[in-house]
Amino acid sequence: MLGQRRINLLHRIPFLKNTLKSRVFQPALMLITLFVFTLAILSGLFGTPAGSRNFGIIFVWIVWWALLILLLVPFLGRTWCTICPIPAPGEWLQRRGIVNRTPGRLRTRRWRWPRRLKNMWLQNFGFLGVAIFSAVILTRPNVSAWLLLTFMMIGVVLSLLYENRIFCRYVCPVGGFIGLYSLVAPIELRVSDPQLCATHATKDCITGNERGYSCPWMVFPGNLARNNYCGMCLECLKTCPKNNVVINLRPFGSDLLVAKERQLDEAYKAFIMLGCALLYSGVLLGPWSWIKQWANMDTLPHWGLYAIGFLVVNLVVLPGLFWLTTALARHLVGQPVSLGRLFVDFAYALIPLGLAAWIAFSFGFVLVNGSYALGVLSDPFGWDWNLFGTANVPWTPLWPTLIPFLQVGALIAGLLFAIHIAYRIARQNSSGHRQAYLAMLPVSGFMTAITFVFLRLYIG
Ligand code: SF4
Ligand code: SF4
Repeated sequence: MLGQRRINLLHRIPFLKNTLKSRVFQPALMLITLFVFTLAILSGLFGTPAGSRNFGIIFVWIVWWALLILLLVPFLGRTWCTICPIPAPGEWLQRRGIVNRTPGRLRTRRWRWPRRLKNMWLQNFGFLGVAIFSAVILTRPNVSAWLLLTFMMIGVVLSLLYENRIFCRYVCPVGGFIGLYSLVAPIELRVSDPQLCATHATKDCITGNERGYSCPWMVFPGNLARNNYCGMCLECLKTCPKNNVVINLRPFGSDLLVAKERQLDEAYKAFIMLGCALLYSGVLLGPWSWIKQWANMDTLPHWGLYAIGFLVVNLVVLPGLFWLTTALARHLVGQPVSLGRLFVDFAYALIPLGLAAWIAFSFGFVLVNGSYALGVLSDPFGWDWNLFGTANVPWTPLWPTLIPFLQVGALIAGLLFAIHIAYRIARQNSSGHRQAYLAMLPVSGFMTAITFVFLRLYIG
């Protein structure tokens, strides 16, 4: 059954266990990504304003994005968060060290994070805030650099005020969608025996010990049922004296079936991610050049209209249409379920479709523009350097004829998987197979219609 089969990778691969338990492994990778991140900021601030020749634009929005959306998130979940450089300076300041566990408490002001912000809403609005400026961010290196710098500064300030990774857990707009899509990934960090956790008196994963810190993401590994809020920081792997923390291989999408933790903020994240993929595809790939100009801020009123339209589609139109779809499904469920509950539950079926849409979208621009990476590797600032002899490699789109096939394949696979998840969710809310099949029909129709819009944009 989906959701039950597991292979303990740490048991199968002892080398992996030793590596992940080492206190050197994570900071070493973070130092590498921090170096690349710093270079991206410096090249954005001081390098050429031509995006295609600037390391910051090419490495962040093409190379990193491709790694993230085509590889890391779908297959390894939150693994990017293990090595992300953005929270690193703040965390190291809190800990007063980089590698070893520093004795004593974290150095912060110990402010309390407001209860009403303990959810994904800040991340939702943060992502939308970045998204409406994305045409500018993606093409102007200095704007992109200031955005990255701002993220890091917010991370440092929050680390000085609050304990643990408040920025990652509640603020980072990237972390929000990585968390959502990590529900699909076939990897999870869990405990092997929850009963052992329940009876373990000292609960070192919560208190920390000489081998490591308490969970920086403020979760109790013994209760973990989904990937969203585990940042794969690996601290509990080091602190658990019972060797109870494991990393499992599992079927894709297992967490989408965990009913008890579904929430409206996460459902909205699913709408926003799907809506943004749809709008980006329309703006960047559609035949309407005027929208491109509006998104690019040709005039402030034009951009204002574009921003309003963008927000309305994401926050009102898409959820509104889905609400109507769910209302129809509710008539067919066959047992009393509140419309609000069903609306939130079925929104989780949109997650694999949204991820597939981003994969399809990314194939387009990553394969077409990926070759710019070789040039900026040798000349990151666009100052006519040639560090590795690749500065003059010409722009060469990779497999341009293959791209539509990859896009169609990703979208169809995503749709089929989303329909399967819709059925499983319908089954959780209905009295029998027949009702579940009936109830999933409107939702499947909705998702099929969205997929056709994507296909129309990609292959005409
Ligand atoms: S320290 Fe290990 S056994 Fe104890 S509660 Fe935490 S994960 Fe469970
Ligand atoms: S559960 Fe473990 S790996 Fe996940 S964030 Fe907490 S300490 Fe890190």
